[in-house]
Amino acid sequence: MNQALRSQVRTREGNRCEYCLIHQEHDSFFTFPIDHIVARQHGGDTTLGNLALSCFRCNSRKGPNIASIDPLSGRLTELYHPRRARWKHHFEWIGPMINGKTDVGRATVSLLAMNHPDIVLLRELLIEEGTFPPVVD
Ligand SMILES: [Zn+2]
Repeated sequence: MNQALRSQVRTREGNRCEYCLIHQEHDSFFTFPIDHIVARQHGGDTTLGNLALSCFRCNSRKGPNIASIDPLSGRLTELYHPRRARWKHHFEWIGPMINGKTDVGRATVSLLAMNHPDIVLLRELLIEEGTFPPVVD
C-alpha cells in the first residue's frame, strides 16, 4: 500500500478508528493500522472502498474476519462495513459504552471487544474532558 493511499485513509475520517471512533491522538503506543474491511484472503482489494482506519485494538480483534455471531439471536451476521454503512445506523453510545443497535452492530461490538474495560475507562476520562464522543453520521 503506497503512502498516498495510507494518508488518504488516515485523513478521510479525521484520524479516528472507524469502528470504535477513538482518535489516534488518544493512543500514544500504536500508529493506527489500515484495515482491509474485506480481508485480502477473502478477495478484498487495496482500494479506498475497502480500507478503513482502525485502532490497534479493533484491528487485532477483527483480524481477517468478515462475519461473526450476533450475541442476541445466535445467528451468523456480517460485520460492520464502514464504507457501505453508517455508524449511527448500527451503533449508539450509552455513556462510555457502544451499544449495537442491529445484528451487524451487536456482532461487531462483540467480536471487536469494543467495550473492553480498558477502552471504556479511557472513554470515561475523555467524556469528563469533554472531548468524546465525536459527532458522526
Ligand atoms: Zn477501534
